[in-house]
Amino acid sequence: MDKRISLRIDKIVEETSSVKTFCFSSPIDALPGQFIMLSDLRTGEKPFSISSSDSNGFSVTVKALGPFSSGMFAFKTGDFLSIRGPFGKPFDLRKGSILIAGGGVGVPPLFFLARELKKAGTEVVFINGAKNSDELIFKDLINELGINQIIMTDDGSSGKKGNAAEGLLNTLNESDFDAVYVAGPEGMLKKIADIKTDTYMELLIERYMKCAVGICGQCAVDPSGIRVCVEGPVFNQNMIRKLTEFGVYKRDAAGRKKYFEKAFSK
Ligand SMILES: Cc1cc2nc3c(=O)[nH]c(=O)nc-3n(C[C@H](O)[C@H](O)[C@H](O)COP(=O)(O)OP(=O)(O)OC[C@H]3O[C@@H](n4cnc5c(N)ncnc54)[C@H](O)[C@@H]3O)c2cc1C
Repeated sequence: MDKRISLRIDKIVEETSSVKTFCFSSPIDALPGQFIMLSDLRTGEKPFSISSSDSNGFSVTVKALGPFSSGMFAFKTGDFLSIRGPFGKPFDLRKGSILIAGGGVGVPPLFFLARELKKAGTEVVFINGAKNSDELIFKDLINELGINQIIMTDDGSSGKKGNAAEGLLNTLNESDFDAVYVAGPEGMLKKIADIKTDTYMELLIERYMKCAVGICGQCAVDPSGIRVCVEGPVFNQNMIRKLTEFGVYKRDAAGRKKYFEKAFSK
């Protein structure tokens, strides 16, 4: 799909009070880790990871945060949204024994990845992290894949007590894996990227995007200027470690630095 098209919302799944999945019956040629640009043609246009895709259609999973994502919650089945994509470099699907760790809305694109890995006959362990049991998403869908799911909640209200980064470190200490794939809040990604391990690792990161096709430079990351929309959003651990702004700040729509500690402490 290389043009902007309008698609009817065919189904909306309420995952939690602040997370909804929007399903479209039109198939899209997408791979795990890729994203679409979604517009309501009023508030703006934002990138969202594809949370599943097959011959029946595709879906994206949205957390209500600011004006655009909260505005998405007013949409009903049968309404139309404007879509461009898919864009971005997908995960590099490795063979062997795979460990996946996700937190928050990082979990949906990893579910898509786990499903494709499972289809290819790969052995997958999935760490599903959330603040508490009410914010846990995709638990049943992951169970339906028939893979080993380890649930981690910050307050211990479901699964083991602790965050996805702690769960990943413990699991890596217990068993050997051929590759690790991670997505979630940047604080969690930073902790995981800093883990000293020789295991191949890929991380899906987010930056403010405008064009999504590598022209505008809005999502360029310091110090190399590598663009998240075309060279990413999936990067391997070696590349992530070279990004001096990773885990420290990101830029807003005007290009101003927003430090994670101050701006994203909630
Ligand atoms: C490649 C890519 C894939 C993405 N996939 C998804 C996805 O699958 N699902 C999804 O819900 N979102 C996803 N996003 C994020 C999404 O594009 C928007 O940035 C998000 O919905 C917020 O947009 P907004 O305009 O509603 O809020 P904004 O106006 O951008 O932000 C509103 C408020 O939320 C705070 N905020 C913004 N971002 C964060 C953050 N990361 N953590 C904590 N607070 C924050 C801001 O400080 C502000 O106070 C993705 C982004 C990228 C780059």
